[in-house]
This record gives sequence, C-alpha cells and structure tokens, in this order.
Amino acid sequence: MTPKDVEFFKALLLSRQAELRAEGDVEVVPENSGADTARRVDEDAAPLAEMNQIIASKRNVTRTQQLEAILEALDLIAEDPDEYGHCEDCSKEIKRRRLELMPWSTLCIACAEKRERENPRGRRRHLTDYK
Ligand SMILES: [Zn+2]
Repeated sequence: MTPKDVEFFKALLLSRQAELRAEGDVEVVPENSGADTARRVDEDAAPLAEMNQIIASKRNVTRTQQLEAILEALDLIAEDPDEYGHCEDCSKEIKRRRLELMPWSTLCIACAEKRERENPRGRRRHLTDYK
C-alpha cells in the first residue's frame, strides 16, 4: 500500500467518524430510507455511500463500537502507517475492496472467518463479518 492509499483510507475513516459524531445517539438509518445516500453519488463519494449502506443494514453495530474501531485504525495510521491494511493475524495485505467498505478492518477475510468460527461471541464479530 502506498502512502497515498493510506491517506485515502484515512480520509474515509475521518469522514465516517465525523458522521458518527454528528449523528449522536440516533438510531441507524434503515436501508430503504434512501434519501441520505442518494444525495452523494459522485465517484469520490461512492465507496463511502456504499459503506454507509452496509453499516445501515447491520443493525447490531452500535455507534460506540464503530467509533472505537475507527479510532484504533486512525491510531495505527498515525503510529505505524506501514502496518495499516495488513491482517493482524497472518500479516497479509487486506484486500482493497474490503478496506474500501470497512477501512477499520484489522483482519483479512480468511482470518475474520476463522475467528468467527472459533469465537462466535467475540467482541469483534460485528466488525469482521462482512464478506
Ligand atoms: Zn489474515
């Protein structure tokens, strides 16, 4: 991953963080409400809009847990940007597509699924179950 890529994901993380903070403790917008995502369909915003749809559909993801994961990812970028985008279990690069949808991912899909099987009640379940 190039420094430019890291900047891209940092921007994604920061906008998601700003949105979550602006939302306060309001419930996640239901998938079919549409209005919010339809507003920003330009190319730059597409990954973010798509990400928000996935987030909206995962009703068990709480705002607090999400903010926590975003903060962890931002910390990693600040302290060790070379490590960002690598799986914390197997050290392989996490697929770009996965990071575009969930820039706070710390596991590749294979390791996320493995953890899911081994520890289905783990605290990170909600953050790693996107396939
Ligand atoms: Zn892995």
